[in-house]
Amino acid sequence: MRVYSIPMRTRFRGVTRREGALIQGPAGWGEFSPFAEYGPAECARWLAAAREAAYDGWPAPVRGRIPVNVTIPAVGPDRAFEMVKESGCRTAKVKVAERGQRDADDMARVEAVRAAIGPDGRIRIDVNGGWDVDHAARMIRSLDRWELEYAEQPCATLEELARVRRMVDVPVAADESIRRAEDPLKVRAADAADVAVLKVQPLGGVAAALRVAEACGLPVVVSSAVETSVGLAAGVALAAALPELPYACGLATLSLLEGDVAGDPLRPVAGEIEVRRPVVDEEALRRWEVPAAGWRRRALAAQEHMDGPPVIEVGP
Ligand SMILES: [Mg+2]
Repeated sequence: MRVYSIPMRTRFRGVTRREGALIQGPAGWGEFSPFAEYGPAECARWLAAAREAAYDGWPAPVRGRIPVNVTIPAVGPDRAFEMVKESGCRTAKVKVAERGQRDADDMARVEAVRAAIGPDGRIRIDVNGGWDVDHAARMIRSLDRWELEYAEQPCATLEELARVRRMVDVPVAADESIRRAEDPLKVRAADAADVAVLKVQPLGGVAAALRVAEACGLPVVVSSAVETSVGLAAGVALAAALPELPYACGLATLSLLEGDVAGDPLRPVAGEIEVRRPVVDEEALRRWEVPAAGWRRRALAAQEHMDGPPVIEVGP
């Protein structure tokens, strides 16, 4: 097990460095990088995803390139315009409802993104659960003058998502509402969303995520957990193996990190990521490597809650 700690270009989930463990097995490298606040039971699924990558490999791809979105944080309209232009992406995800900002800031940002991406580009907003039902309905209708592809997690709860979904014409996507394998079935049962955002590590691997996608019966957008190229490759593998991929994926997140562990990182070219599996480059990894003891303990604790064969050897 090798452990990396890479500074974030901008603060994310309150952290300034992204840390995680990389595990090498006969099938390749796997990434185990649950966020700091997750306990061992939750981490077990993240570890299962790393085990799959290192020991089992992934289902066969049905496509060779994955369209990805550029993510526009809560920046001003001029910067938002530039970011879309620089990205080369045909889909933009615009963060809205940022604390301390006004609705007018969100409107100006979405307007600028539409100007940058042109009439054929797609725009989705990501609210991260930040609105109540009425505010969501009002803002989604208002922002839809710039044509929204969908609104991601407009409110916090499933019940609220279902209500918003009945009030607006714009499709609703569930992201934070899906963090474990049984969640998408609840989303479906509650009639709460039109689109499911899935991440490989919290769902326990690519094969598990594919089963979840099938069971929930909704179109899927694959998103990253802000991993290195090793973890991103699993997201790319999921996006590549889905029978249908109607939306661009949220896998262009390497730009949030100051560096990577691969010699040939999984970055998009002209709005698409090639389906491939980068290998860890010793020189690149050494630049970010930190002692493994803490992550080894974390993995061992997670392993206690994981079904199937162990990944980490118990012992000295
Ligand atoms: Mg989201």
